[in-house]
Amino acid sequence: MANSWRRERWDSLRLLTPNWQSRLPGRPYAGPDPDGYMTAGEVVELIDRFAAVSRAPIRTGVNVTSVRAVDGGYHVTTSRGELRCRAVVIASGACNQPVVPSVSDGVPASVEQVTPFDYHDPAKLPDGGVLVVGASATGVQLASEIRASGRPVVLSVGEHVRLPRTYRGRDILWWMDASGVWDQRYDEVEDLTRARRLPSPQLVGTPERSTLDLNTLTAAGVELVGRWAALRDGRALFSGGLRNVFSLADLKMERLLGTFDEWAKAHGRDADVEPPERFAPTRVPESARLQLDLGRGEIRSIVWATGFRPDYRWLDVPVVDAKGQLRHDGGAVDSPGLYALGLPVLRRRKSTFIHGIEDDAREVIAHLARHLSAVAR
Ligand SMILES: Cc1cc2nc3c(=O)[nH]c(=O)nc-3n(C[C@H](O)[C@H](O)[C@H](O)COP(=O)(O)OP(=O)(O)OC[C@H]3O[C@@H](n4cnc5c(N)ncnc54)[C@H](O)[C@@H]3O)c2cc1C
Repeated sequence: MANSWRRERWDSLRLLTPNWQSRLPGRPYAGPDPDGYMTAGEVVELIDRFAAVSRAPIRTGVNVTSVRAVDGGYHVTTSRGELRCRAVVIASGACNQPVVPSVSDGVPASVEQVTPFDYHDPAKLPDGGVLVVGASATGVQLASEIRASGRPVVLSVGEHVRLPRTYRGRDILWWMDASGVWDQRYDEVEDLTRARRLPSPQLVGTPERSTLDLNTLTAAGVELVGRWAALRDGRALFSGGLRNVFSLADLKMERLLGTFDEWAKAHGRDADVEPPERFAPTRVPESARLQLDLGRGEIRSIVWATGFRPDYRWLDVPVVDAKGQLRHDGGAVDSPGLYALGLPVLRRRKSTFIHGIEDDAREVIAHLARHLSAVAR
């Protein structure tokens, strides 16, 4: 239970969602620091406490090795025996494996490669330069921490979502919540495929509530380069056009902040918050390097912060598409009696977040209950 939070997070990780948002069904946050951000250990405690009060018959330390459709339901094989059931809810998470691009195969053996699952703290990396690939929540957090340890850091930046930690005196996630952005439903989202693939925002949860954008990293001495496009003769080749990538992220942030301003005005909330703010554009490096010779010794390790994906190798039902994603409609998987929870924009924009589960679960379970009563008839 809470396996991913026990074993798959780096040591310093804190949630990027504030404590008041770390609520589980029927359990609002009741601690002393609603605006703080939980450590991974505190998330484990939250889940353990929830398991205890919910009194659900939980079996821990059990691996599901196969689920297959049989007459009237599913046959489940686990590391501790077999089960038959009429319905299955897949809540195995959206982030079971780090995504590592295939260019990693050609990286010289002298360069150590780590994923966020192997990374614990900067001291465990070899001395010397570090190339962090990916500038979403994981990449910016690890680049910042590794740079603070004194190592030279190069950060390879592709498409990203820039956000300030606070806006008009409130946590940016307060704005997402209050203005209804989080609650936007999957059937109202304009481009659902894109929304489901959106990278995580550049945010970190620190007691100081600091913003961690590319300007912060540049000021800390992190060198920015473009998206890693190819590997040739041991040299990493990066895309040019950082200016465009940065202005797109700046523009999207400005637009989002503009919608928050409109919401505040329309709902009479202007007096509860500070005046509108605008942020400096992302600074473009004067001449970003377009390649980096990985055999030269400048870079001693690479951290792949290139995202995560689910792992359905245990699912023997043909419901996984060519990209490895589950085929489902709002959590009702393409096989009767099979359901999913906790996937990106499953039913709402907040679906993969801890606070997102309650509304989704209620609706998915209602569907499941209807299915069970229909098959019982
Ligand atoms: C680096 C990182 C940072 C994050 N930060 C935040 C944050 O700040 N705030 C937030 O709200 N969310 C955050 N998330 C998202 C977070 O993962 C979810 O909010 C939450 O953990 C989702 O819970 P879940 O139960 O759906 O999935 P998970 O927490 O992934 O749990 C799935 C569980 O299923 C188990 N499992 C998988 N396959 C099998 C199998 N075959 N048999 C048995 N068990 C299996 C896994 O071991 C795991 O214990 C973050 C995610 C990552 C990767």
